[in-house]
Amino acid sequence: MYDVVIVGAGPAGLTAGIYAQTKRLSSVILEAKEIGGQLTCLYPHKSIHDFPSYTDIVAHELAGKMAAQAREMGCEIREGEEVIDLDVEEEKITPKTPKGTYEAKAVILALGMGLFEPRKLGIPGEEGLEGVYYNCLDTKPFEGKRVLCVGGGDSALEMALTICGCAGKSTLIHRKDYFRADEMTVERVEKSPIQVVFRTELKEIMGKERVEAVRLINNETGEERVVPIDAVLISIGFIPNLESVERWGLELKGKAVVVNPEMRTNLRGVFACGDLVTYEGKTKRITTACGEASTAVNSAYKYIRKPYWA
Ligand SMILES: Cc1cc2nc3c(=O)[nH]c(=O)nc-3n(C[C@H](O)[C@H](O)[C@H](O)COP(=O)(O)OP(=O)(O)OC[C@H]3O[C@@H](n4cnc5c(N)ncnc54)[C@H](O)[C@@H]3O)c2cc1C
Repeated sequence: MYDVVIVGAGPAGLTAGIYAQTKRLSSVILEAKEIGGQLTCLYPHKSIHDFPSYTDIVAHELAGKMAAQAREMGCEIREGEEVIDLDVEEEKITPKTPKGTYEAKAVILALGMGLFEPRKLGIPGEEGLEGVYYNCLDTKPFEGKRVLCVGGGDSALEMALTICGCAGKSTLIHRKDYFRADEMTVERVEKSPIQVVFRTELKEIMGKERVEAVRLINNETGEERVVPIDAVLISIGFIPNLESVERWGLELKGKAVVVNPEMRTNLRGVFACGDLVTYEGKTKRITTACGEASTAVNSAYKYIRKPYWA
């Protein structure tokens, strides 16, 4: 039986793994897909400027450093192991994956948004045409292309900044007349070659097999225009998939797990951290995910060592 099973190997899960090693808790990290979470599966080529110790580090590199540190500290990380069930009993918790059944004294959930889907616009041409993207796993498809980026939040601006260096021309449209993003990111967009068009919505993506043009509408004047485009990059958020978490009996608020300041959930011996959780003042950042992971490990440690800690 493990002291702790950690579910998810994004920043929160990897930090929990590192900290569990310092506490000499026997542990394993189970990851459904690949190590690194959103940093590797959503924005591997994006620069990160707000993680202490690096003024500028590419996301997949930061994830790689976290994973290397975890492994060097002795963490066991198993990829391709999606936790599909979680039985919580008095003396043990049993996470189950299609590959096996684990037993633990405590579990730390660090699932992020779960196995999420990108939010779609639901417009004609969005499905089936080559050249419609919701993330930037590789900058190659955008090289030398005329790219239309859609959205006005941090993700959209950061995606546009990621591709603008290699794209032939990048245009960013947003339905409002202001961005909802960090000031520093907005300034970087303003200083970049990205053409920003406010009050504009994407109504149709046109083409035979691949994207050839888009139909845009100015939502103030109603004026419509067709613009030749080679690729569309839509960043309007994600739909978290926390179906399994709901099934396991965890208390949810909206699409997130409710935790107390110790990162305890409503289930005995089950702790949670990172983008998965909610509490007053919660922010979804890498640093907060890491901080919450340390708290979760500390709380799991106290829970496991009781009655000494009681
Ligand atoms: C475009 C974009 C840019 C961003 N830029 C920044 C930035 O510059 N700075 C910053 O601080 N933050 C940034 N963020 C936010 C940051 O990425 C997240 O806050 C952070 O990744 C949260 O870490 P996490 O470990 O909680 O979740 P995640 O990174 O989502 O990791 C969760 C992991 O759990 C796995 N998982 C899910 N379900 C299961 C299951 N059932 N079984 C096993 N494994 C499972 C997933 O596969 C995933 O690997 C950005 C977010 C986006 C979308």
